[in-house]
Amino acid sequence: MFDYLIVGAGFAGSVLAERLANGSNKKVLICDKRPHIAGNAYDCYDNEGVLIHKYGPHIFHTNSKEVFDYLSRFTEWRSYEHRVLASVDGMLVPIPINLDTINKLYGLNLTAFEVKEFLEKVRENRAVLRTSEDVVVNAVGKELYEKFFRNYTRKQWGLDPSELDASVTARVPTRTSRDDRYFTDSYQAMPRHGYTRMFEKMLDNPNIKIILNCDYREIVKDISFRQMIYTGPIDEFFDYRYGKLPYRSLEFKHETHDTEKFQTAPVVNYPNEQAYTRITEFKYLTGQEHRKTSVVYEYPQAEGDPYYPIPRPENAELYNRYRVLAEARSDVHFVGRLATYKYYNMDQIVAQSLTQYGKIAGMKRQEATSLVLEKQPAIKTPLYSNGNGVRVNVSGGV
Ligand code: FAD
Ligand code: UDP
Repeated sequence: MFDYLIVGAGFAGSVLAERLANGSNKKVLICDKRPHIAGNAYDCYDNEGVLIHKYGPHIFHTNSKEVFDYLSRFTEWRSYEHRVLASVDGMLVPIPINLDTINKLYGLNLTAFEVKEFLEKVRENRAVLRTSEDVVVNAVGKELYEKFFRNYTRKQWGLDPSELDASVTARVPTRTSRDDRYFTDSYQAMPRHGYTRMFEKMLDNPNIKIILNCDYREIVKDISFRQMIYTGPIDEFFDYRYGKLPYRSLEFKHETHDTEKFQTAPVVNYPNEQAYTRITEFKYLTGQEHRKTSVVYEYPQAEGDPYYPIPRPENAELYNRYRVLAEARSDVHFVGRLATYKYYNMDQIVAQSLTQYGKIAGMKRQEATSLVLEKQPAIKTPLYSNGNGVRVNVSGGV
C-alpha cells in the first residue's frame, strides 16, 4: 500500500516525492513513462562522453533563496551566467538587446544615455501591453522587433506575437547598459554534477519506489494508494473531455563535433533564416573539458511531446474548464508545467511543488522545506526497475 502514486519524475513529481518521503515519512511510488528520471531537465553523457541535456538547454536561475537552499541539499553548484548571441543581418549580436547590440547592428558608437534616446525615438508607445507584439514594439519599435522577435516567435510558437500573451516575450528584457547576461537573477548556477545526479539524490530514500518506462494508466488499477499527484498534461488526464489543450513541441537534433569549440557563445539564436530557433553548445553550460563538443538544434513542431503550454486567452479559458474538473478531485493533486498549464521555469515549478506539499502536509511553505527527517544518505549507483521488471540504469544514453 502506497500513500501516494506520483505520475511524472520531473521537478514537480520529484520534489513532492522527496518532501512526502523525507518530510512526512510517506510511502511513495513515482512512475514515469520515459526511461529516466528528471523529466525535461534530464541530462546524460552522449556516446562521445559529453554531458548533454536531452530535451534542450536547461539553465538554472532564481531569485528565491528558499528554492536555491532547498535544491542545495541535493547538489553542489557551478556558478554560471548565461549569455546568448543572435544571428541578425549576418552578424552575431547580444540578445537581450543592449547597448552593444544597437551599436554593432547600426555601426554606431552610442553611450548608454544616447542609446536610451535612440530607443525613445524608435519605440512605439502602446498604452496597454496585451500581446507579445505590444511588449517588444513598445520597448524597441518595429524594426528591431522584426529583426529579433517576430520571426523567432512565429517559428517557436506557430503564432504571430500579436496572438500570444505579453508574458512570452516579456521574458526577454531590453537594456541600455552593456550587461549581456540572459538572466539577472540573484542565483545563477548549474548543478555541479548535472541535473540527473541531483534528482537521484532527491529520490534516494527507501520510502520512494521508482518505476520507469511506465505510463501510470498501465498500473493504476493494480496498485493500491491513497492519493495521486499528477504532473502530466491535464487534458490527457481527463481524456480530452473538452478538447485538446495546445502544447508546442520541439524536435531536438543532437550532434557531436570533432573540435573543442563549435560556436562563440553558449547559445546562438537564429530568428530569421533557419528552420531551427537556436543552437546550444553544452560544454559552456556544464564546464566540462573534452576534446570534442556536442550541440543541439531546436526545431519547433506542432505535434510531438508536449513541451510548452501556449499562453493566450483562449487556451487559458480551456485550461480553466479543466481546472474546475481538477479541483473537484480531492484524491488527485495537479502540479507542474503540464498539469497546471503554466509556462514556468524550473525554479517556479520547485516553488509551486513546495507550496503544494505545504498544503498537503498542512503547513506553511517555509516550514514545508525545513522539515527533513534525516540527513540525505550518500549517493549510490541507482538501478531502477521499469514496468516490465527490467532493470534500467538511470543515466543511460540518449
Ligand atoms: P516535466 O519535466 O515535463 O515532467 C513531467 C513528467 O511526467 C515527464 O517526465 C513525463 O514523461 C511524465 N508523464 C507525463 N504523462 C505521464 C503518464 N501518463 N505516465 C507516466 N509519466 C508521465 N526552465 C528553466 O528554469 N531554465 C531553462 O533554461 C529551461 N529551459 C527549457 C528548455 C526547453 C526546451 C524546455 C521544453 C523547457 C525548459 N525549461 C527551463 C522549463 C523546465 O523544463 C520546466 O520548468 C520543468 O522541467 C517542469 O517540470 P515538471 O515536473 O512540471 O514537468
Ligand atoms: N524570443 C524571440 N527572439 C529571441 C529570443 C526570444 O522572439 O531571440 C521570444 C520568443 O517568443 C521566445 C520568448 O521570447 O519563445 C521567450 O524566450 P526564452 O529564451 O525565454 O524561451 P525558452 O528558453 O523558454 O524557450
